[in-house]
Amino acid sequence: MRSWVEVSLSTIRQNYRAVRGVVGAAAEIMPVVKADAYRHGAVEVSRALEQEGAGWLAVSNVEEGVALREAGIGARILVMADFLGDPLSGESGWLQEYNLTPVIHSLNDVAAARVPYHLKIDTGLGRLGTRAAPEDIVRAVAAGKAPMEGLMTHFASAANYASPQTEEQIKKFEIVVRALHAAGLAPRYIHSSATIPVAYRRRPAWGNLVRPGHAIYGYVCPVRGPAPAAALQVRPALTWKAAVLAVKDLEAGALIGYGGMHRAERPMRIAVLAAGYADGIPHRLSNKGSVIAKGKLAPIVGAVSMDLTTIDATACLELRPGDAVTLLGSEDGVSIDAQQIARQAGTISYSVLCGISARVKRVFVE
Ligand SMILES: *Cc1c(COP(=O)(O)O)cnc(C)c1O
Repeated sequence: MRSWVEVSLSTIRQNYRAVRGVVGAAAEIMPVVKADAYRHGAVEVSRALEQEGAGWLAVSNVEEGVALREAGIGARILVMADFLGDPLSGESGWLQEYNLTPVIHSLNDVAAARVPYHLKIDTGLGRLGTRAAPEDIVRAVAAGKAPMEGLMTHFASAANYASPQTEEQIKKFEIVVRALHAAGLAPRYIHSSATIPVAYRRRPAWGNLVRPGHAIYGYVCPVRGPAPAAALQVRPALTWKAAVLAVKDLEAGALIGYGGMHRAERPMRIAVLAAGYADGIPHRLSNKGSVIAKGKLAPIVGAVSMDLTTIDATACLELRPGDAVTLLGSEDGVSIDAQQIARQAGTISYSVLCGISARVKRVFVE
């Protein structure tokens, strides 16, 4: 294989149990498996999580939910970012047929809903969710034909403890919760927390259901400002490898790759890897990132190209064509994770994981 990822299902399970250890009996856990489980493989990951006792899973759109149902996943599935009445997908019918639960973002859709739904409140993220006044929300929910099963919101700045935005969002959300309660409309599920408020134990944000994605895959982003110590310990579940296609020696002064971006200052050995930006290696790692070759960091030299990446292999003379190097993962105590790659590439770890393209084969290991 040119390039592949190994996904450890036992690590996924352990990460889920670590989340369970933090939230205890206070909240149910709805792991987020959108975008093919952040490229870890939604079906296999969902199966593992279901075996661990996850009663809910969250996806982004109806198609992702249908794929899980067709693979035999029986847990409740929340569809977080699709829309009712899509004339192309005929979504409403699919929701019923596949027992998917939609998140509704507008009061018009509350009136149109025919299946139990979760209503999303925009408390300040400025993305999906209704910004209607609490009394209008109460009126719409009371008049709706389908029952509101859950009420949710999503935070904009959970990782920034120097910002008051999360507290402001929690306050706004609580006003809506209280207005609904006062009208006798208590939703069964109240939820606001992705990974960060779980990992840093921001209890008032949990409600009775939490929605961790990143943590399930082994990541908690560092936070800013006066935060408490992280309560959650998780490990990356995904390792990404690429095969060495060729190894060769270059003379001092040789140029490497498109644009002659790197010049060998002295005689140098390079290895050509069978993966490039079409596989998801950020182009911004050109002349910048590293991989692990034979247990040692080896710098990327020259431009990352579509299908190939060149590394400086001078320090690992035993590297041969056919050997595998690690793009993301660890070897002999040396490790590179999605967060490090993201920092070097000027992006975020989520984007690094989701950027691993479909042509990178996936192998599941325990
Ligand atoms: C993606 C997403 C999550 C999960 O976020 P993580 O930071 O990966 O834990 C939770 N809730 C919503 C609404 C999301 O879109």
